[in-house]
Amino acid sequence: KVVVGTKVDHNHTNWVTAYNMLTGIRFVVSRINAKMHRDLTEEDFSACHKFSFDMTGNELTPSAKYDFKFKDYSPWVFRDLRAKFGLDPADYLMSLTSKYILSELGSPGKSGSFFYFSRDYKYIIKTIHHGEHKFLRKILRDYYQHIQQNPNTLISQFYGLHRVKTSWGRKIHFVVMNNLFPPHRDIHTTYDLKGSTIGRDYNEENISNNPNAVLKDLNWLRRDMHLNLGPTKRRLFVEQVQRDVELLKRLGVMDYSLLLGIHDLNRGNKDDIRNSALKVFQPGGPVSDEIQGHMLQRTPSKMEKARQARELRDIIYKEVPVSLDQDSANRLPDEFSEHKKTLFYADDGGFRTTHENNEPDDMIYYLGIIDCLTHYGFIKKVEHFWRGLSHPKDQVSAIPPDRYGERFFNFITGLVKSKEEVQREKENAGNG
Ligand code: ATP
Ligand code: CA
Ligand code: CA
Repeated sequence: KVVVGTKVDHNHTNWVTAYNMLTGIRFVVSRINAKMHRDLTEEDFSACHKFSFDMTGNELTPSAKYDFKFKDYSPWVFRDLRAKFGLDPADYLMSLTSKYILSELGSPGKSGSFFYFSRDYKYIIKTIHHGEHKFLRKILRDYYQHIQQNPNTLISQFYGLHRVKTSWGRKIHFVVMNNLFPPHRDIHTTYDLKGSTIGRDYNEENISNNPNAVLKDLNWLRRDMHLNLGPTKRRLFVEQVQRDVELLKRLGVMDYSLLLGIHDLNRGNKDDIRNSALKVFQPGGPVSDEIQGHMLQRTPSKMEKARQARELRDIIYKEVPVSLDQDSANRLPDEFSEHKKTLFYADDGGFRTTHENNEPDDMIYYLGIIDCLTHYGFIKKVEHFWRGLSHPKDQVSAIPPDRYGERFFNFITGLVKSKEEVQREKENAGNG
C-alpha cells in the first residue's frame, strides 16, 4: 500500500496539535476541578491563564511529549457551565483524555474549521477563527445568563474555550462542545437548515455514495419533510427556538443553523453508518485493529470504566500541582452519570416524534442550533452588498441578524406539523 508523503505529514501535524489540545485540556480542567467551589465574580468572565509545556516540565506544568503553549479562558465560568449542563467532572476528563484517541471529521464546513470527536463520541472540539474566539469572550456573560434562564436551550453547549500555540508559533483557538448526535444510535439522515434557499442544496445524485451527507433546506422542501411533533412538544420546541433566536438577534449573530439528525426506530442501528466515516488518529501509520476496536466499542463495559477511572486518578495525582480535594478524588471511580436529561435530549439523548394525541411516534430527532459565533460584521456586510445586487433580497444568506433570526424562526417553526395534520392537509388539497 503506497502512502503519499504529504498526507502522512499532514496527519502527523494534526496529531501533534490534537495531542497538545488534549494535554492542555486535561491539565487545566483537572486544575480547576480540584479547587473548592466558590461563586463567580465579574473577573471570571474575562480571565485568561497561560501555561507553557515542554519535555522537562516545571513547578507549574507537568512534562509533556511536545513543546507548546496553552491558554485557558474563563475556567471558572466553564466549570460552572459544565455543571449546569449536567456533566460529571470525572466523566468529562475521561472522555477527553483516555489514550488520546480522537477522530477527525476533517473540515466539513466552508469556514476551514476542524472538528474532532472525543474518543467516546460525546464531545466535539471545533477549531474557531480568531474573530469567533473574540466574539465568544465578548458575549460569554450573556451566554451564561441565557443558560441560567434557559436550561433547555437548543444553542450549542460550550464546555471550554482554549488556545494552543504550536512550537512554530501558530495559534489555534478551539471550543469544546456537545456532540448533538448520540454515540449509540445511527443517524439515518442529517439536515442543516437555515431558512434560506440560495446555495442550500445538496446534490442528491451522489447520496448513495455518502450516507453521511448533510442535506440542506432545498432537499428538505423537495422531500416535503416536516418536524412531526404533536401539540405539547410543538409548543415546547417553538417556545425554546423563539427564546434562543431572540438572544442570537440581540447579540448580532447570524449564519447559524438547525442541525437535525434523524434516527428511524424502524431501521434501528443495523446500518452502522458512522464508523466508516471516521478517521482515527494515531501518530504515524495506519489505524491498528486495537484502536478500531476502541472506536467500535461504543459503550465501555463496567470494567473498562473502572480501569479508565484508575488511569485518570493516576494522571491527576501525578500532574495536578495544586492539592487535590480528597473527597472528589475518592468519588471519581463511581461517577459516570450521563448528561443531565434536559427536555430536548431526554428521549435516548434526543427528542422523539409524537402524534397529534401526543403519543410517541417512530423517529428520534437529535437537534440543536449550531455555528452561533458569526457576528454580523464587516465581511458579511460586504457580502450582503455584492450578493444583494444579483439576488432577491430576502433570499440572500447574509442578511442582518434581525431579519436572519426572523426568517430562521419562521422557517423552522413552520416545519412543525404532526403526521395527522400533514395527512389532513393533503386530503383537503385533494378535495379542493
Ligand atoms: P460554515 O461556517 O461553512 O457553515 P463551520 O466550519 O462553521 O462551517 P459548522 O456549521 O459549525 O461548521 O458545522 C459544520 C457541520 O459539522 C455541521 O453541518 C454538522 O454536520 C457538523 N457539526 C457541527 N457541530 C456539530 C455538533 N454540535 N454536533 C454534531 N455535529 C456537528
Ligand atoms: Ca454552518
Ligand atoms: Ca461558521
